[in-house]
Amino acid sequence: MASGGGNYRSGTHKNSLKGTTTTTATDRPLSVNTNPSKPTLKNKSLSSVGASSGLRKSSPGSLGGGGTAKDDAGVPGRVRVAVRLRPRNAEESVADADFADCVELQPEFKRLKLRKNNWDTDMYEFDEVLTEFASQKRVYEVVAKPVVESVLDGYNGTVMAYGQTGTGKTYTLGRLGEEDTADRGIIVRAMEDILADVSLETDSVSVSYLQLYMESLQDLIDPTNDNISIVEDPRSRDVSLPGATLFEIRDQQSFLELLRLGEAHRYAANTRSNTESSRSHALLMVHVKRSVKGSDLAHSSQNGNTTNMAKSLRPTLVRKGKLVVVDLAGSERIDKSGSEGHTLEEAKSINLSLSALGKCINALAENSAHVPIRDSKLTRLLRDSFGGTARTSLVITIGPSPRHRGETASTIMFGQRAMKVENMLKLKEEFDYKSLARKLDIQLDQLIMEHERKQKALEDEIERITTDARNQISEAERNYANAMEKERLKYQKEYMESIKKLEEKWMMNQQKNSERKDQIASSAEEVAELKRLLNKEISLRKIAEEEVHSLKSQIAQLKISEVSASSEVLKLRKMLEDEAYRKEKLEGEISTLQTQLLQLSFEADETRRRLDLDGPGIVPGSLESLISQARPQVNDLGNGEKDSIANLFEQVGLQKILSLLEAEDADVRIHAVKVVANLAAEESNQQKIVEAGGLTSLLALLGSSEDETIHRVAAGAIANLAMNETNQELIMSEGGISLLSMTAANAEDPQTCRMVAGAIANLCGNDKLQNKLRGEGGIKALLGMVKCGHPDVLAQVARGIANFAKCESRASTQGNKTGRSLLIEDGALPWIVQNANNDASPIRRHIELALCHLAQHEVNAKDMITGGALWELVSISRDCSREDIRNLAHRTLTSSPTFLAELRRLRIDY
Ligand code: ADP
Ligand code: MG
Repeated sequence: MASGGGNYRSGTHKNSLKGTTTTTATDRPLSVNTNPSKPTLKNKSLSSVGASSGLRKSSPGSLGGGGTAKDDAGVPGRVRVAVRLRPRNAEESVADADFADCVELQPEFKRLKLRKNNWDTDMYEFDEVLTEFASQKRVYEVVAKPVVESVLDGYNGTVMAYGQTGTGKTYTLGRLGEEDTADRGIIVRAMEDILADVSLETDSVSVSYLQLYMESLQDLIDPTNDNISIVEDPRSRDVSLPGATLFEIRDQQSFLELLRLGEAHRYAANTRSNTESSRSHALLMVHVKRSVKGSDLAHSSQNGNTTNMAKSLRPTLVRKGKLVVVDLAGSERIDKSGSEGHTLEEAKSINLSLSALGKCINALAENSAHVPIRDSKLTRLLRDSFGGTARTSLVITIGPSPRHRGETASTIMFGQRAMKVENMLKLKEEFDYKSLARKLDIQLDQLIMEHERKQKALEDEIERITTDARNQISEAERNYANAMEKERLKYQKEYMESIKKLEEKWMMNQQKNSERKDQIASSAEEVAELKRLLNKEISLRKIAEEEVHSLKSQIAQLKISEVSASSEVLKLRKMLEDEAYRKEKLEGEISTLQTQLLQLSFEADETRRRLDLDGPGIVPGSLESLISQARPQVNDLGNGEKDSIANLFEQVGLQKILSLLEAEDADVRIHAVKVVANLAAEESNQQKIVEAGGLTSLLALLGSSEDETIHRVAAGAIANLAMNETNQELIMSEGGISLLSMTAANAEDPQTCRMVAGAIANLCGNDKLQNKLRGEGGIKALLGMVKCGHPDVLAQVARGIANFAKCESRASTQGNKTGRSLLIEDGALPWIVQNANNDASPIRRHIELALCHLAQHEVNAKDMITGGALWELVSISRDCSREDIRNLAHRTLTSSPTFLAELRRLRIDY
């Protein structure tokens, strides 16, 4: 700076430098985050310092006029001026390629060097120097942001661009940055900051967009509105445009649309009137209204004793800020314009506003007494912006081309002069008296109502207390009267009662006197009566005593006789028991004797029978009489014996005898079974025995007893009973075959087997029982007994086989049986053939008959031939001692084709 001191242009730059140094206290350079208004506003003392600091409150020649803010405390501030250099465009790059730029910027020193000629430059200092490389963002932050912030705080603010056409005024202010957001100009960024800071619920943002051309003010929002008048408030000097459209902004998008619309209208209007936008001024006015809360108010505690009432009565404070952005017409000189085809008048008119602005600024910069503010509409509109109460920023745009050096120089000079203009910032606060009045009305109403309510309550209370008091008095009176009455009644009652008592006492005394007299008279009579009653009682008592005495003696006698009677009963009972015992004993004895008698008679019977027989060894066994039924020739009982048994039968009784079969004593059982067997030998007894259950008992004995004598005798009895057809069925149905065969299998005495074989042999003779008998193993049982070899047994076996063969033959003849003999099936044939020549004639005879019966049927022939029976038959037919059997055998042989064929085959001549 010192080295270039001689190059400073006289006056202006020095002034400007001087101005910079002399106003250091308040004259701060524009910067991003600096807002001088904020601390000042919020700090009362600073504000008052500002007011009394001696700094110029408002210059006498200010656009706003001397008296505007006289009474108001304001903050002084200079118009801020920044210079922006447009980069070389394509044309300039070519045309000016060999020439240096007409300016040289020193942004670090906020200085600009303007080349005068090749060897001389002038140096100027600005609030901000923005090179061709400065971004839109930075330009906004240093030029416009502090103004926007002060608008949000309730001040008016102006941002305007001044410069030659084509140097970038519109670029700086109006770029929308649609393609590249980095290109957004001041207007768009300012609205973004405003919308971010306000609250649309309580605050409002509205916009007017206008064009000023040839002193005509047109509404760019509504182009039909083309002659808008400017109105000044005579008191506040505020400028307003009542005819301009005021568009409420809710968001950035609607704002951008509004700008586009305005631009389109501007373009259309200019085409219509054949004008250029560079000749017109574009003005954007943004009105910001903000409600300020009570606590924010600097006035709230001015008196120190603010009451709640006062607080509530305080009207809402509204802060109004207005931002004016002006894209000025091109600053190129008028003659140039005129040479482009405008009439001189037109050219004058076009630039009237701009030159008026220049004049006003000059006047303000020089503190001139007269500022020609009314010379143009622009100066009237911007009266607050220069030398007024607004914060103002001016950006001057210049091009680099040396060809436009003159225009650039004049632009720089305009900026330099503007830097000298000082403004007085004034807060635009307004009380909302209307709403305060409304509020007061409401409060008054409420107070009246409250008062009325209290009045009413008070009256009610008085009424209530009066009533209460009255009630209490009457209550007390009533109580007193009641108490008096009660007391009176009480005394009256007491008085009456004592009178009554006295009267009663007197009466009682009277009565007692008369009673005493009566009593003495009646006493003698009473005594006599009592005596009489006493005598009567005494005599009655005597009679009763006598009666009691006689009854007592009777009882004693009865007791004696009762004792003797009971001893008699005891004696009789004892006697009865003795008798019963004796009877029992006798009965036992009788039973024993009877049994003994039975036994004796049985033994005697047996002895007698033995003596009657041919002699010992021919037919051994004591129960021959049983078999004699099957062989009538063997024996018969004499009439005498029959009688004795019949007598016994009658004497003892069949039931008794049968019951003895189950006696505990084994001997008794044996005797009993013997007696039953003897009885069963008599045909006349058989039915009775069976009916009385004797047969069942005998069969049961075979199973239950282990004594062989019992087995033998019982089997004998069963054999006797088995001669009757009905009994045979009963024996079979009670499992007789298995009991009999089991008895035979366990027998040691051949006579036992003989009895069993006899019984089965009898069963074999029953036509109906053939299959059942064989099915239960009857034939096998018979054949099983032959191993004992005793001729008596063999004879009974042979008889059984003969009986069976006979029945079978009969059944075959009658057609009731088919197939070969069951005897052959059960393997009897070999034994039959073996014993066909047995020495014992009874055996031989039975076998001969059996063979004849078997041979009568062709089905048996083959087996008989194979078993050797053919030969036996032949010998029977030839040698049998009995003629009938011989003939039978012969007939049989000759009538069988099988036998005949075999005989022929064996070449036996028959
Ligand atoms: P003015 O409004 O002053 O007449 P414009 O803003 O219309 O000038 O700018 C003229 C031309 O220069 C436009 O094409 C614009 O894009 C360009 N321009 C202006 N300033 C700059 C800049 N700082 N950087 C790049 N181009 C610019
Ligand atoms: Mg422009």
